[in-house]
Amino acid sequence: MRVLIIGAGTGGLCLAHGLKKAGVDVALFERDRTPRSMLIGYRVGISPDGSKALHSCLPPDVFAEFVRTTARPATRINMRTEKYKELLVADIPQARNPAHRENSVSRIAMRTALLNGLEDVVRFDKTFTHFSRNDDGTVTAFFDDGTSETGDVLVGADGAQSKVRKQYLPHAKVVDSGITTIAAKLPLTPENAKLLPPQADGAVTLLYGPKGAFVIIHVMRFEDASVEDDYIMWGYAASHDKFPDLKGMSQEQLKQVVLDMTPKFHPNLRELFRLGDPETAFQIKVRTSEPVQPWESSNVTMIGDSVHLMTPGRGIGANTALRDAELLTRKLTEAHHGKDVVQAISEYEREMIEYGFAAVQSSREQMDGNGAIHKPVIGRVVLAFLRTFLRVTNALPPLKRRMMARDMADRDHVDSAHEVVHAG
Ligand SMILES: Cc1cc2nc3c(=O)[nH]c(=O)nc-3n(C[C@H](O)[C@H](O)[C@H](O)COP(=O)(O)OP(=O)(O)OC[C@H]3O[C@@H](n4cnc5c(N)ncnc54)[C@H](O)[C@@H]3O)c2cc1C
Repeated sequence: MRVLIIGAGTGGLCLAHGLKKAGVDVALFERDRTPRSMLIGYRVGISPDGSKALHSCLPPDVFAEFVRTTARPATRINMRTEKYKELLVADIPQARNPAHRENSVSRIAMRTALLNGLEDVVRFDKTFTHFSRNDDGTVTAFFDDGTSETGDVLVGADGAQSKVRKQYLPHAKVVDSGITTIAAKLPLTPENAKLLPPQADGAVTLLYGPKGAFVIIHVMRFEDASVEDDYIMWGYAASHDKFPDLKGMSQEQLKQVVLDMTPKFHPNLRELFRLGDPETAFQIKVRTSEPVQPWESSNVTMIGDSVHLMTPGRGIGANTALRDAELLTRKLTEAHHGKDVVQAISEYEREMIEYGFAAVQSSREQMDGNGAIHKPVIGRVVLAFLRTFLRVTNALPPLKRRMMARDMADRDHVDSAHEVVHAG
């Protein structure tokens, strides 16, 4: 059996490893010209589920390399107002084993690590255009350089703008979430660290401001200094209507937009915005997808954002792509050992559609530009209610622990409470 994968992102690379390890003939095609071409975004949080999927698909030396490139995992969730006032600070349950714990990684470092061992599998500078089915049951993928490749199975792992999805499921809808995000990073120097909100070092920090404005801060400290220089990453989000027209703006202007929109935010936070390296600034209009009714399975399928694009709201997009990769590896391995291929893919799709779109829904609830918190009058009431709820929970440790356990279980499909120990 020969499997063609389109897209060397989070899901595609994990799947390629899983299939190669199982002895399946696999070829992966990526449109980027080089492994280090710009990837949107910097940091990805790999949840315990995502780590388990990687551990299961990657050969041990590649998994060890992935772990080596991670930053220190966040041990706290740190929720505050835009003026740095505490709302809720709680420990994130930690597992010691990297194969079962939260891992914080830069996208580029993760891609570099996952490319190890796939030198004979991945081909860069190959932009997929379309596929066709052949009379002998095989499928052919075509590329914009005029070449083509034929295999028994085609997997679209080509992300948010998937060409595989557009051809295979033309009715599947990708929609605007109503949220715009501007993000940038700056070096983690002792001076810059002083500007961070209290307890932000070692935490995932979420700041809730007025009019639905929201800031996320990650502090990336690498255990291995050769991986990357330590950095601070911030992302500012609000509903589209709060932003000026961003079309054609330079990266420096994007930063200025954030400063113009946050005159009353904590001065140190504004300084972090100001110090963001303009070369790293980017903006995205966050999109999501609508549930797709199950379709008749064939030897073409999809994983990750290509099929269930979701907002970064719960930090589960990459983790769901990894879960798909692990599940599809298992099913295609069964096919490799004699099971009917379409039956194997149908079993994968039945499960994937259910958990994938549940994840889409849950991440949309966290990032919905039409939500009440973004509305003029009711928004103030909702924000006041949210802040009170967080402060009360913060003051009641049993409630706080329950909330954290529920949140972790929501993010991952398996409640791994039995295998975690609290940080510190
Ligand atoms: C700012 C930001 C922060 C995020 N933070 C988190 C987080 O903390 N945790 C989390 O779980 N998720 C996070 N996500 C989501 C996560 O990054 C994605 O859900 C995940 O990368 C999806 O993996 P994928 O393999 O489906 O697609 P991708 O990783 O996007 O990979 C798709 C690949 O396909 C290639 N490609 C596209 N079209 C073609 C073509 N025609 N031919 C050949 N190749 C093609 C692309 O170049 C790319 O390499 C975040 C996303 C963003 C934008």
